[in-house]
Amino acid sequence: MRIAILSANPKLYSTQRLVKAAGKRGHEAVVIDHMKCQVVIENDRPAVLYQNSVIDSIDAIIPRIGASVTDYGCIIVRQFELMKVFTTAKSQAISRARNKLRSLQILSKAGVGLPKTVMANHPKDVKQLIELVGGPPVVIKLLEGTQGIGVVLAETAKAAKSTIEAFTGLKQNVLVQEYIAESKGTDVRAFVVGNQVVGVMKRQGPEGEFRSNLHRGGRAEAIPLTPEIEWTALTATKALGLRVAGVDMLISNRGPLVMEVNSSPGLEGIEKATRRDVADDIINFVEEKIRADESDIVGV
Ligand code: ADP
Repeated sequence: MRIAILSANPKLYSTQRLVKAAGKRGHEAVVIDHMKCQVVIENDRPAVLYQNSVIDSIDAIIPRIGASVTDYGCIIVRQFELMKVFTTAKSQAISRARNKLRSLQILSKAGVGLPKTVMANHPKDVKQLIELVGGPPVVIKLLEGTQGIGVVLAETAKAAKSTIEAFTGLKQNVLVQEYIAESKGTDVRAFVVGNQVVGVMKRQGPEGEFRSNLHRGGRAEAIPLTPEIEWTALTATKALGLRVAGVDMLISNRGPLVMEVNSSPGLEGIEKATRRDVADDIINFVEEKIRADESDIVGV
């Protein structure tokens, strides 16, 4: 097979691991920078151009789209979909997952546990918003923040009000969320490939930090997969229409609560914590799906 990894940086750990895993299974892997692609829209002959040539003979793509370039990245993924190329993440699922409120709406419909969340539109609603999630402390989040940037813990109603006003003053939409104190600065990421959770890790923020993001100096360790975590991770992934996902949860007194589902989850943290070859799981999944598609075509 010829597998394209859509990545803006071929040197990234995840990109390199996927290239290696594909090679190990006898496939040809190419890294394509989606930001340097152009789309050609024409009836019946959709195409993608890269470095002035038409990209063809690609059997599958593995999108690794950074949060800052979601829109253009999704256009390129969509173009490959029109060309009937298999993708580990469809464009619609990527853009759904990138919007925290939209994801939470979809997840609530699927019956997945969620932290109580409200959306702020205008500062005059602030007091009510804080009360709606059970009063302070509350967590305030930018709608499209990532890596813990734009996630603030407000201990008092006063702090919450000024934070919300500061964000909305900058024309940013925010979510106000109940603070899950019992998770004590830890969260859990379940890594899903197809219908399976291939690894679970617990992340702990540095001393005094309520955010456990690895990018913010958090540490990760493998933990056992419980039926609750498994059900939550698989249901959330399916609800958003993703095939590969990192499902981030807080473990609360009422069970796992999903904060966010990542459509381009990094491989470094999970592979190092679990010592599992997750890149190989992804390539294996691509192989299986393409084989299943081929048998569909010949009617097997
Ligand atoms: P980002 O997408 O920017 O990583 P998250 O919503 O995942 O933002 O939040 C970052 C971190 O903050 C989480 O990993 C978690 O440790 C902590 N956190 C987020 N929301 C809550 C909450 N409601 N209660 C307690 N901790 C939270």
